[in-house]
Amino acid sequence: MSKCRACGEPAVIDLARHNANFCADHFIRLCLRQMTRAIDDFSMFSREDRILVAVSGGKDSLALWDMLIMEGYHAAGLYIGLGIGEYSDESGRLVRQFASERGLTLHEIDLRAEHGFDIPTAAKATRRVPCSACGLAKRHLFDSAAREHGYDVLVTGHNLDDEAAVLFGNTLRWDVEYLRRQAPVLAASGGFGRKAKPLVRLTEREMAAWCVIRGIDYVVEECPMALGNRHLAYKESLAGLESRSPGVTASFFLGFLERMAPILDAGVDHDDPVACRQCGAPTSAVDESCAFCRLVSTAAAHEPVPVRLVLDRRRRKAFDEQWGTTTMETT
Ligand code: SF4
Ligand SMILES: [Zn+2]
Ligand SMILES: [Zn+2]
Repeated sequence: MSKCRACGEPAVIDLARHNANFCADHFIRLCLRQMTRAIDDFSMFSREDRILVAVSGGKDSLALWDMLIMEGYHAAGLYIGLGIGEYSDESGRLVRQFASERGLTLHEIDLRAEHGFDIPTAAKATRRVPCSACGLAKRHLFDSAAREHGYDVLVTGHNLDDEAAVLFGNTLRWDVEYLRRQAPVLAASGGFGRKAKPLVRLTEREMAAWCVIRGIDYVVEECPMALGNRHLAYKESLAGLESRSPGVTASFFLGFLERMAPILDAGVDHDDPVACRQCGAPTSAVDESCAFCRLVSTAAAHEPVPVRLVLDRRRRKAFDEQWGTTTMETT
């Protein structure tokens, strides 16, 4: 049996990228160290700040919330019910269970109940991929909830694999503007609050192991709407490289942060935002409603679309992209 590198006791996990094995206790310490290093290196927030964690019910955001509390930060949760069928029902249940077992503050927003639409309907109504409507809604609601409840910073559970996949995509397209915005902390600017990603030094597998070791129940399934999305394809490509050369994902992303620091833009450019005439949120759309209010008016006017219909369409599209045929009939 392999032994923990730090204490010699039996190990519970092997971390190829560190070329070492760890017992549960030393693995927990390693994760906390990696998180606090990211927080300190990028001056994300202090122990006095009030932190709002965007929790989805997945392993990363729940592990992040758990780690922040363990390290003595003041962190509350924010959960958005996206209306994605059973996936949302289950994720909401697990987030509520996590918060109530630990006596933590959880804010909740239900898209259908409060704004009259859900993500499958928004995708159909706007004829865009679900993740595009979902990302827009989440950004707006995260910002407005942090502002409304007076939090100093909003944090998300994006991990090293997520960020490396985004970097990979941005590099393949040489999208310099997006590359500049991959700093793990974005300062408050133009009415938008500060945002940070404290898990950028930790991998997906490490976060899954954290949840297992700490006994945290999380939604194991990916969001069904992610099917066929380009981000997943980038992740899979990197996972293939990582299995051959352990550590390559970390050196790709962390090396980017280190060496490209001069080009990273920690502030978001919002030239003189104005207040949305419907909801009052900052927007660059002069004399108009913000993008979220426009989404609400299109999506809420559409009759509710069952998740199944959107999924059928996406499954078909993923098949076509992979196999190049469009002649199959679906039932
Ligand atoms: S995969 Fe897409 S639709 Fe699902 S939660 Fe993420 S952004 Fe939203
Ligand atoms: Zn040990
Ligand atoms: Zn608005």
